[in-house]
Amino acid sequence: MENAFTVDVEEWFHICGVGGALEEENWTELPSRVVETTNGLLELLDRRNVRATFFVLGWVANRYPHLVGRIRSAGHEVASHGYSHRRVYELGPQAFAEDLDRSLRALSLAGAETVLGYRAPEWSINDRSLWALEILARRGILYDSSMTPLRLLGNPSYSEIPHSQRTPSGEIVEFPPLVGRRLGQNYPLGGGWGLRMHSPRTVLRRIEERNNRGLPAALFVHPWELDPDPPRVRLPLGHRFAHYFRLDGFAKRLNEILAGAAFAPMEAVLKLERPAA
Ligand SMILES: [Zn+2]
Repeated sequence: MENAFTVDVEEWFHICGVGGALEEENWTELPSRVVETTNGLLELLDRRNVRATFFVLGWVANRYPHLVGRIRSAGHEVASHGYSHRRVYELGPQAFAEDLDRSLRALSLAGAETVLGYRAPEWSINDRSLWALEILARRGILYDSSMTPLRLLGNPSYSEIPHSQRTPSGEIVEFPPLVGRRLGQNYPLGGGWGLRMHSPRTVLRRIEERNNRGLPAALFVHPWELDPDPPRVRLPLGHRFAHYFRLDGFAKRLNEILAGAAFAPMEAVLKLERPAA
């Protein structure tokens, strides 16, 4: 049973909802780490012979098209993480469509002409932005991985397994991230601080439970989580936790997780067919 391994390719300063020094107008002035950290992740995956889906931020693809080329030539799938790393429900339909188109253009210019998948920044397709699914379907996007079955970011009532979402412009498959469950509550496990804080054994056991029911799981990481020398700024508490909690030793734990289950890109796990060019 193959599970989806995914990477959101963005800089350490692409954090939703914090203004000030990390405002978009300052991005070009901040130290860029994305090429180095993504290269590290590519090496880690290559050593484990794992192919993954890389949801590349359009802003990154635009600045570093060769990085998109390197990801593709290593055999990974390239998909979209939007362009400007803004929450979908804050953009609204018009600006979301523009941000999506801009990201697809940047990926295409970098050589990724056919993009099948999309992941919103900060899991921001939720009850406030379900209209986004139709816009994705209209652009020919076959799957989305932006709706998390967690409270605050998403909704605990959302399905935990890949499923089809109907829109007036056709169907789109939704592939949620892995969550754990304790005392009747879902908790983060497939990525972010949830993946970093739990032992590889706990994560692998949850994947195995899922696989034993004939269902795949999805994990996600960010290049900045594997930065040996990460730049840091003062963040509000919630963001500080999401970004800085237990980065120590994460590469080693991730390596164990990669060795303990079978992983593939989302398009392969979902057995999607690429449209003829
Ligand atoms: Zn992101």
